[in-house]
Amino acid sequence: MKNIASLVRPAVRKMAGYTPGQQPAPGSQVIKLNTNENPYPPSPAAVRALEQALADGDRLRLYPPPTSSSLRQAAADCYGLRAEQVLAGNGSDELLRIVLDTFVDPGEKVGFLEPSYSLYPVLIQLRGAAAVPCPFDWRQPEQMPDLEGIKLFFLTSPNAPYGIAFSNKFIKELAARLDGILVVDEAYADFAAGNALELLAACPNLIITRTFSKSYALAALRIGLAFASPEIIGEMDKARDSYNLDYLAQTAAAAALGDQEYLQATLARIRETREFFQRELQHMGFTVCPSATNFLFCWPPAGLSAAGLYRFLADRQILVRYFAAPPLDRGLRISIGTREQMATLLTVINQFIAEEDKPDGYR
Ligand code: PMP
Repeated sequence: MKNIASLVRPAVRKMAGYTPGQQPAPGSQVIKLNTNENPYPPSPAAVRALEQALADGDRLRLYPPPTSSSLRQAAADCYGLRAEQVLAGNGSDELLRIVLDTFVDPGEKVGFLEPSYSLYPVLIQLRGAAAVPCPFDWRQPEQMPDLEGIKLFFLTSPNAPYGIAFSNKFIKELAARLDGILVVDEAYADFAAGNALELLAACPNLIITRTFSKSYALAALRIGLAFASPEIIGEMDKARDSYNLDYLAQTAAAAALGDQEYLQATLARIRETREFFQRELQHMGFTVCPSATNFLFCWPPAGLSAAGLYRFLADRQILVRYFAAPPLDRGLRISIGTREQMATLLTVINQFIAEEDKPDGYR
């Protein structure tokens, strides 16, 4: 018998792997506010493009365009860049992996704010690199982290799971101080008032990543984009799978980019609901982190347990995200759904608050 465990790379054997938010079976009647998906459908133009693509079944015999050329050009046109400054990925998760494969050797140090996106340390460990978490206090967000010896730094802006956006002044200074690559993960930037795109010209070590999973409502298709200098993109291009985006994903993404009017209308609805939901939570005594995203991080009023509220909601078919490890364990991250979904959630939270003798599981 071969001992498989002894054959596994120690870095992989030691790691726990990433735990995604719960994904209930399609068709189940839950209000799903746990993985920051868009509550509205994608652009009808994207859906039409997919229908047309599928109408010609014979197209599926062939490999997709290997460099996602039309999508890269569409993105360049949309964001005022050149196509050589754009790379398409199988979700932005793949792009995060590609930047590590391109720039980081085993043993090198990779920094990120803690807490932020919990996939970073997993990808860093997988690369055999050293994960360097830098403590992040949401009340003083723009503290410069210690960048000594850091080869690559992941900054999520706006931050997840708190939702706070960093200023371009701070990002520019971080890029200048860093003796390595700065990756600004802008998964949620479409929901914010600004973004770091204008810094690309001034910061040669900057890479910006975006996703179609949130603002464009195409999470099922796995599409991400990276923006950087032609030199960086050229190197990253060598480190991706040869056909990393399937034909349907490329088709839908290009069509979605072409319908900015729909995107802006959807974003406006989500921002409006976010402001409404924040006000209501504050009236109920919650502390709410100011958010530039499609989710809110909030802490229940004194005497109420976040874990208990999470279970109370889950038992009533409402899924939100609870992170059991400190410093997040006293709060909840709640995605912004439709106005009706948020109103239902508020009603159930009120029931939780009103229930005086809570059973053990809700305390
Ligand atoms: N970055 C952050 C900060 C995220 O929250 C997520 C989604 N969980 C991603 C990247 C990944 O996005 P994608 O679906 O494009 O892989």
